[in-house]
Amino acid sequence: MGVSVCLEGLTQYNSPKYVRIQSVTWGCLKAFVYLTFAVSVCCIVMIFRLHQEEDEVDSSVRTSVKGVTFTNNRIWDTAEYTIPMQATNSFFVMTNIIKTENQLKQSCPEYPFAKAICSSDNDCKNGSADIHSNGIQTGRCVVYNATFKTCEVNAWCPVQYMGEPPEPAVLRSSEDFTVLIKNNIQFPKFNYTILNIPTIFNTSCTYNKTIFPLCPIFRLGDIVQEAKQKFSEMAVKGGIIAIKINWDCNLDSWFYDCSPKYGFQRLDDKKIMPGFHFRYAKYYKLPEGKEQRTLYKVYGIRFDVIVFGTGRKFNIIELMRNIGSMISYFGLVASAIEVVLSIVRYSSCGKSAFCKIYNRKKYETVLNPRQVMYVSYVDEPHVTLIKEPLKTSLQHAQGSIVESHPVKFCDAGSCCTSESNEHCDNEESEPMRSTESNKNDDNEEHELRQPLRQDASSPGSPKWCCCGKCLPTQKYHEQLCCRRKKGQCITTSHWFQQLVLSSRTLKKALLYKDPFLDLTDGNIKNQMRRLAFRQYIHWRFGSFDLEDRAVIPSCCRWQIRDTYPKAGNNYTGFKVE
Ligand code: ZN
Ligand code: ZN
Repeated sequence: MGVSVCLEGLTQYNSPKYVRIQSVTWGCLKAFVYLTFAVSVCCIVMIFRLHQEEDEVDSSVRTSVKGVTFTNNRIWDTAEYTIPMQATNSFFVMTNIIKTENQLKQSCPEYPFAKAICSSDNDCKNGSADIHSNGIQTGRCVVYNATFKTCEVNAWCPVQYMGEPPEPAVLRSSEDFTVLIKNNIQFPKFNYTILNIPTIFNTSCTYNKTIFPLCPIFRLGDIVQEAKQKFSEMAVKGGIIAIKINWDCNLDSWFYDCSPKYGFQRLDDKKIMPGFHFRYAKYYKLPEGKEQRTLYKVYGIRFDVIVFGTGRKFNIIELMRNIGSMISYFGLVASAIEVVLSIVRYSSCGKSAFCKIYNRKKYETVLNPRQVMYVSYVDEPHVTLIKEPLKTSLQHAQGSIVESHPVKFCDAGSCCTSESNEHCDNEESEPMRSTESNKNDDNEEHELRQPLRQDASSPGSPKWCCCGKCLPTQKYHEQLCCRRKKGQCITTSHWFQQLVLSSRTLKKALLYKDPFLDLTDGNIKNQMRRLAFRQYIHWRFGSFDLEDRAVIPSCCRWQIRDTYPKAGNNYTGFKVE
């Protein structure tokens, strides 16, 4: 079962069915929305550069700081104030210093911080050390200066001054130093390399945001100023400044643009524990072999060069991919129009003829055949749909109108034409068979002249009958007349005789289906009866999906049964599920 369903699926393709609305308004609305959407897509592609392939920048940075200054009776050149950093893409410029010269390994009083201050030896503990202390305590309390006594320590003596750094900063004039930043970048995807230094460049230039935005030489004071800081303040305790180089490159030849944009920002927090410092020492050997050192605690600004950016280049595949992904949003346009249509449908104008027709075309109702019956009255133009179960006779059951059934009565014209042709055939084209056909006609005449069954057997028709020819029955679904209001029975009409009862019509139809059918077969009456029922349904209802659910009125059914009776008279009737 499953396999056959699967195979059936492989041999079919289901294409969606659309309802076309012939309307200038809706057509223009559609065109407008699609056009707007297409323009938006183009704008989005251009603004977000969706037609270009992207690549992240790879970079290397080299820096060289230049400048000399004289302070504290000393010349400070590049080798003194720039100390190589371990971090990549960083350089450090010293701005302030605390120097402790001639330190030797011996015992001396500790620097007077809170935990080191003592009044007697009892306050000090031999062998102990605090994380802030400069050495290991000996257990003695000694005089530091006129004010304080502190615990004695084994350390590099004299111990370093641990107070605030000097203000103003020792090397505050370093704001006039300059740094040349050489930044090579590469976009590996596009095999493109470029340096931040222009090919024609004035070596004496200094970076200025407005005048020389591409000059790679920066004055340190300007950098700090661009980062909205004061150099003289920052020089005291130091700090960290980021030099950001942003490469946003359009590598398409027709819109080529690839130059760095510099930005500056302070990275350490100005308010909470600002500054940047570290210690280092220079060691000497005294003539007698003792080791001596000079300890430096240096404050300064660390400059971190941060390079980032994106290279973009036109790529047809990228463009197709992005447009493709955006085209899926075109579905939204259709949905939007559907929403508008729904609003129109449910709003006041939903009762307009347009909306009615639209609804009928748009929605096909699928009914459960077990729960419906169709009836047609000769004095009403429409077919009526009645839902089961019935609580009264079918004749009086409330139903809904199946509006202008698509096929009902529409073949009337063609039917008449064929009938007239038939006459022509009988009279002119087939003179050889005229005798036989006359005989048939005679037979039919004879049949038609037969008195109707109920006329003979039961003159009183049931209450629900309006034509006077129906037979009483207990079954609700068989209590159906050919009319809604009192009047002539359909069975007395010429077309009922011609289309439904006429043995000639039925035989022709049977032969049409099976040209070699044996009309003398004993079973032929049953076939003709069934065909007559079908003929009636096609005539009064047209052909439709649920034609098995069309109910034939009692008068018609019995007229057909009487004309083509079943042996034993055990009729099945209309099947109720
Ligand atoms: Zn009736
Ligand atoms: Zn009737």
